[in-house]
Amino acid sequence: MKLTSEQILSVKGRGFLRNRGTDLFSGRVVARGSVFTAEQFRDLSILASTYGNGKLICTSRLSVEVPGIPFDQIEAAEAFAAAHDLHFGGTGAKVRPVAVCKGSTCVFGNFDTHALAQKIHDAYYLGWSEVKLPHKFKIGVGGCPNSCMKPSLNDFGVEGHKAPRLDPTLCRGCKECQVEKRCPVGAATLTDGKLVIREDACISCGVCTGKCPFGAVAAESETLYRIYIGGTWGKTTRMGSPLSRLVREEEILPILEKSLLWFKENGLPKERFGKAIDRVGLSVVEAALFDDGLLARREEILSK
Ligand code: SF4
Ligand code: SF4
Ligand code: SF4
Repeated sequence: MKLTSEQILSVKGRGFLRNRGTDLFSGRVVARGSVFTAEQFRDLSILASTYGNGKLICTSRLSVEVPGIPFDQIEAAEAFAAAHDLHFGGTGAKVRPVAVCKGSTCVFGNFDTHALAQKIHDAYYLGWSEVKLPHKFKIGVGGCPNSCMKPSLNDFGVEGHKAPRLDPTLCRGCKECQVEKRCPVGAATLTDGKLVIREDACISCGVCTGKCPFGAVAAESETLYRIYIGGTWGKTTRMGSPLSRLVREEEILPILEKSLLWFKENGLPKERFGKAIDRVGLSVVEAALFDDGLLARREEILSK
């Protein structure tokens, strides 16, 4: 059977991408915040051996594709997935699956990255699945400035930071300073027998907090978050623009929602978020993201 372009397109929006040079398809299965349960992995194996070619391929955005599915088996594969808490998708001009680093368990992680990614998945990957945007919108969540999964190269990136608070009166000027030893960027140094942290060099990675045996360096506050907007990497590249201040946890989702609303209202067809930001001006966009005007017009913007 020769497939028509309509048939190929009709399944693309449901997460099935044609395998190059064949009439077979890869079904993209999206994990909730990049986490699969053991049961889901077991069922994915059954799915792959029943409907595909027995392989499971990890994508660069932490989804799993089941390749080799014949066109006439796609509906059956979808029915199997629906019955086993598996979800095909992750394509199109809308919010894409959230990619996240292993910050929940990583020794450098400043917060529970998977918990945040799951919240975003529920509210925006699923919650906005019917909302058409000018282009795809990728979201990345990272636990610290090590940037293993590159939040700054996503349309919207979140990165956890923890600033140190130094109490010089508690510093004893040890022969080997545990804080100086651990600082990855040389921002913490012993100077004239006392620890000094240079604010202009400190990247608030949080590695040193609590490492002084005499309690001289604690965390300044709860984890704060760097938000990057408009990052892209590929045919065109653009480093995400960091918002001018770190934000608190409860600010993240409202700023993300305002970013989506702004993009929906202002982005031109097939224009990525970063391009739209450069066209309009970063300061204008940032002002809109720190204001509540977009949220007040939410229904109006979504109805367009
Ligand atoms: S970005 Fe930080 S928290 Fe995330 S995996 Fe890398 S080192 Fe760990
Ligand atoms: S910060 Fe702590 S470990 Fe470093 S020199 Fe001072 S007392 Fe010693
Ligand atoms: S928070 Fe990170 S960069 Fe800043 S002083 Fe501590 S270890 Fe160095």
